Formats: sequence, C-alpha cells, structure tokens
Amino acid sequence: MTRRGNDDGPRDRRGYARASTMAKPDLMERVVNLCKRRGFVFPSSEIYGGFRSTWDYGPLGVLLKRNVKDAWWTSMIQLRDDIVGLDSAILMAPRVWEASGHLETFTDPLVDCRHCQQRFRADQLPPSGACPHCGAKDGFTDSRAFNLMFKTHVGPVEDEAAVAYLRPETAQGIFVNFANVQTTTRKKPPFGIAQIGKSFRNEITPGNFVYRTREFEQMEMEFFVPPEDGERWFEYWCDQRLRWYGEHGIPEAQLRLRPHDPEELSHYSVATADVEFDFPWGWGELEGIANRTDFDLRAHAEHSGQDLSYYDQEHDRRYVPHVIEPAAGADRATLAFLLAAYSEEEVAGERRTVLHLDPRLAPIKVAVLPLSRHERLLPVVEEIAGGLRPHLMIDVDSAGSIGRRYRRQDEVGTPWCVTVDFETLDDKAVTVRDRDTMHQDRVPAEQLNAYLLERLP
Ligand code: ATP
Repeated sequence: MTRRGNDDGPRDRRGYARASTMAKPDLMERVVNLCKRRGFVFPSSEIYGGFRSTWDYGPLGVLLKRNVKDAWWTSMIQLRDDIVGLDSAILMAPRVWEASGHLETFTDPLVDCRHCQQRFRADQLPPSGACPHCGAKDGFTDSRAFNLMFKTHVGPVEDEAAVAYLRPETAQGIFVNFANVQTTTRKKPPFGIAQIGKSFRNEITPGNFVYRTREFEQMEMEFFVPPEDGERWFEYWCDQRLRWYGEHGIPEAQLRLRPHDPEELSHYSVATADVEFDFPWGWGELEGIANRTDFDLRAHAEHSGQDLSYYDQEHDRRYVPHVIEPAAGADRATLAFLLAAYSEEEVAGERRTVLHLDPRLAPIKVAVLPLSRHERLLPVVEEIAGGLRPHLMIDVDSAGSIGRRYRRQDEVGTPWCVTVDFETLDDKAVTVRDRDTMHQDRVPAEQLNAYLLERLP
C-alpha cells in the first residue's frame, strides 16, 4: 500500500498523505525508535543509565533541529525588516525574576501520593483520583505551589546573596534589552526582537520524549507596538505563526489555534492563543501567542528605575509599548515535524519508511551514491560531492546495494539521491531520484547544482 493519493488522511501543502492514519501509539514508538536507531535523538547520559527529562541530539537530529531554528530565524528576521535578533545570557540578575513575577508565580501545583511518594502536577491527575503510579485512590497530599526555576549560586560562596536562576524563558532577556536595542537600531514601534536559546524548567512530570523536558530550546519574539494596536497585531501573529507550521510541512488537519479561556490566562496576558499539534497522545501546545500588554516593560521600569517608554516624535507623545509575543519551542516543533513527516509505504511489494520532511528541514539534502565501489567511479563521486558541499549538506554513501541505500536515505528524509554509474564516465550525467515520487531524472553533472537549488523551496 502506498499512502500517496489513496487515503483521506491529512495532506501537507505538496499533497503528500501522512502517517496519521497509523495507530497513534505505534507512530510515537516508531518515531522514537527511528530517532535512536538513526542518530536523531539519544537519551541523555545513557551509559550511566540515563537522566530522564533531558535528551541529546545526534548527528542527524542536530541538523534537523538547526534547520527548524534556521527556518524560524529566516521567517522572523531575514525576510522582514521590522524584527532584529538578540542573544542574551542565560544567567541574569535575580531581580529580573522578581520584576517579571517568576519568583512569585512561576509555579505548578504539586501533590505527593501518600502511598508511593511519587509527585504529580495536581492539574494533570486523572479524573478517577487514582495515583498514576501505584493506583491508590484519593491518597494525595494537598497541593502546594512548586516553583519551576532552577536555583544555583554564582561565585564561590553559596549563600543567599549569591543565588541566581537558570532562565525559564528567553523573553526576559529581550525586555531588559529593549532600550539598548531600540536606541542602537533606531527602530520604531511596531518592531520586534527575536531570540533563540536554551531555557530550563524543573518540570514536575517531564515526558513524551522531547515534548516536555527540563532543558529545552525556545524561539521567542517580542513585538513592540503602540498601545492601541495590540489587538490587531495579536490577530496578525496568530495567523502568521499558525501558517508557518503549515508552510513547513505540517498538514492543516493536524494543526489548530486554541484561544485561552479568560480563567486560563497568565497574570500578564489579556489574550493568548496556542498553536497546537495533534500529537499521538492528543492535542498539545507547540507555541503560545500572547498579548502581554505593557506589563513587562512597566514592571522592569519600576524595578530597575530606568525609563523604558518610547517617545513617538511624529505624534509628539510618549508611551510604554504593548507587546505581542509568539513563543515557540524548538524541540516540540522538531518532534511535530518528525511525527507529521513519518510514513510507511509499500512500493513494488517492498516496505519503505520515509520522512517526507520539507527539504528545508531535511538534515541531509542530497546523498551522493556511487553505483559500486569501483575505483573508476570514486574520483567522479568526489568531484560531484565537492561541487555540492559548499552549497548543501550532503552525505556520500557507498555501503550496500543501491536499493538499500535509497531506503536508508528515505528513512532519514533525504529529498534527493544522486547516483553515479559507469555511464557517468561517458555522458557526464548522473541520475537524480526524488524521495517522494521516486521519479528519476538524468541530469548533466555540470547542471546538478542548479537543478537541486531550483527545487529547494
Ligand atoms: P506547557 O503548558 O506545555 O507547560 P507553557 O505554556 O508553559 O507550556 P510557554 O511558557 O508558553 O509554555 O513556552 C513557550 C514554548 O516553549 C511552549 O509552547 C513550548 O513549545 C516550549 N516549552 C515550554 N516548556 C517546555 C518544556 N518543558 N519542554 C519543551 N518545550 C517547552
């Protein structure tokens, strides 16, 4: 059975059906297995029995996640002239977290099971009231607020004065640099500041692979606007961000925008909507878009004593900009792209596993495959590979039958395989195979770069 064109499941914008028709627990297990087997994601500290709650990205995973971050950066910064980048420190003055409200309110409700002593988030307990670990009924302690920030000490003395926190979000680094960035770039609202970086949260119940971990990467952008324009820009960013996932290969049916109910809103927000993905265990958040009003700039101005308002020369008025924040997770996005791309198909009686990743996200763009290891082919392979390397991430694979090598590349999402055969020695042309259609084209070697670059979205 080939999935393309013969089922009614979700399709991405190029018309490829997706594995969402597969039993969902199977899909998760298969993707996790593929990640381990092919070097996308390894359990952290595995030789010491693992560290639960954190994961390491292997040679293919680091390329995939980097491409996800690059795609975000391209759409946020390179393709616009109203957003600039930033890379602020993970360790910041503790007063930042006092001003932002994190010290007081960045908590989850924690309960202990009196029978097995396991801890859970009170808001994630099953309705039955049974302990998810030991099954004991109604044996939980009262819930108490548990702060998710990791505490550490800076410098050699471990006293209260030396306490610092690992940042639980990248956003505060942007707010405290608002004036620096605004004055050095001379940007006028509406304008944004974007950054990608690690954040840390001492999650009570990490799980679902890289979905919820204690160390993760965020892609956040704070968009500063005149106060009266907040609502309009909130709508704009909800639309843009939902669209971005679709444009990078997630079928529409597996995405939705879920507005928060008023009682769900964070203390700083007047409106929030989550971009959600249909994960194998149900809908889950990929990104939150929030209208944070002037809460953050006002709070930091108050606590630091610095003026964080903006003088609008054109209208001769001063105001504290309102902020619209699209805050995404690089790890969750990477997992969603993997799940949406995974497919098992039958071709001419043989099974193939394919990652139909958008070529921009695929870890390897082109595999160069000599038909055999014959010594006459190797210099040609090296020449072709050398011509591609400066432009595209490639892999040269000469081990095993050509069919097996195609399968190996399909499984890690390589969009094109270039085969060098004995005819290449005479006609100076190579065979280019498309991962999705398996269609093959004979292309003159000197036109190969142009042929491939033209096909990259
Ligand atoms: P959740 O409700 O799932 O805990 P959140 O609403 O607290 O998430 P935000 O504070 O809005 O998350 O963070 C923005 C994004 O950062 C999330 O949409 C998610 O993609 C990512 N993120 C947050 N916490 C984690 C985590 N523990 N592991 C991986 N990614 C995370």
